[in-house]
Amino acid sequence: MSGEENKCNLLGLDETALIEYFTAMGEKPFRARQALKWIHFFGVTDFDQMTTFSKDLRQRLRDNATIIPPKIIFEKPSSDGTYKWLLEMADGNRVETVYIPERQRGTLCVSSQVGCALNCSFCSTGKQGFSRNLTTAEIIGQVWVAARRLSKIGGEHDRQVTNVVMMGMGEPLLNFDPVVSAMDLMMDDNAYGLAKRRVTLSTSGVVPAMEQLRQVSDVALAVSLHAPTDELRDILVPINKKYPLAELMAMCKKYFQGQPRRKITFEYVMLDGVNDTPKHAKQLINCLQGVPAKVNLIPFNPFPKTIYQRSSDAAIDKFQKILMAAGLTTITRRTRGDDIDAACGQLVGEVNDRTRRSERIDKIMVQVVNKHQALDGQLEQNNH
Ligand code: SAH
Ligand code: SF4
Repeated sequence: MSGEENKCNLLGLDETALIEYFTAMGEKPFRARQALKWIHFFGVTDFDQMTTFSKDLRQRLRDNATIIPPKIIFEKPSSDGTYKWLLEMADGNRVETVYIPERQRGTLCVSSQVGCALNCSFCSTGKQGFSRNLTTAEIIGQVWVAARRLSKIGGEHDRQVTNVVMMGMGEPLLNFDPVVSAMDLMMDDNAYGLAKRRVTLSTSGVVPAMEQLRQVSDVALAVSLHAPTDELRDILVPINKKYPLAELMAMCKKYFQGQPRRKITFEYVMLDGVNDTPKHAKQLINCLQGVPAKVNLIPFNPFPKTIYQRSSDAAIDKFQKILMAAGLTTITRRTRGDDIDAACGQLVGEVNDRTRRSERIDKIMVQVVNKHQALDGQLEQNNH
């Protein structure tokens, strides 16, 4: 038998893929559901513990398959119940995953790529460039690790993953099939059983892939808008040059057609003096005309060498009031700590680069969490 690396990692197979896998082995399709339960619900990685399988089947699985989750490089709890993991993939690439508990829910922020090719000017992941796509196993593996660790940690609070946001590193729609397949696993009753409104994909606006997504998936959608005109958005979110606002908004108008109660969350990072004036608020209202929209204002999280600054609280309040007066549901998540904050991906970059590790990591962890708490606000709306 060849090495472990040639075996199939069952962690990354959704129900359809598992049915194919078992059928090819001469087994019945229902083995797929059993395998999902063992792997994702019970968190078993050893085929010998899969007692609903015959000894012979377990042996054949051992010979041909593996269940390998990402490796935890470190885990960092904070006093408010937040957990952060730095996870390493088989090839040494690292991604971050963050868990934020809040009242009735626990949100996991999951990465879809190592780095990102889209180079938004206010995003530290973008500044790192693109390394590679994550596989389905590596995406769902983040949920697998978090679910296992949270159930082990237990304690006074019931910590569970009730929501997932694809808002970690990377542009999920540029890694389409693995992301859809991982989100299917998140929603699969035999795996994590999350409701469709509790899984959110966030995109910077890859319009053709949005059309594809609406055809194959029911998840909640967030669009990273950040600017109300092409002129400004071309600078902040350069993929706008390829898919300008007219195209993006036309897609958003039709995205949830036939589902009158569903809305798209528009993320709008508040950059001091750049996109945060009353004029921009009015332009934004225009831009969202006719779109089933809610708005999530995100105070910018600065990172080293960035040219941007976070808007003042007063500017954010004013901006929000203008949107609300026009009937747009708008929320703002305030972040803690005002010095520097992290954008997604900063953690990984810093951990790879720095020598004074633990000190840096502590600081960066707080920043990463601040950013995610800011983003998490949109879920509150999704759940209403
Ligand atoms: N690539 C996808 C998803 C990952 S980024 C997207 O762009 O939507 C998730 C969210 O974090 C996006 O809305 C992104 O614009 C926002 N973000 C990135 N850097 C940020 C920063 N420094 N401060 C605040 N939000 C940031
Ligand atoms: Fe990529 Fe999203 Fe960052 Fe833009 S904001 S560079 S799309 S991760």
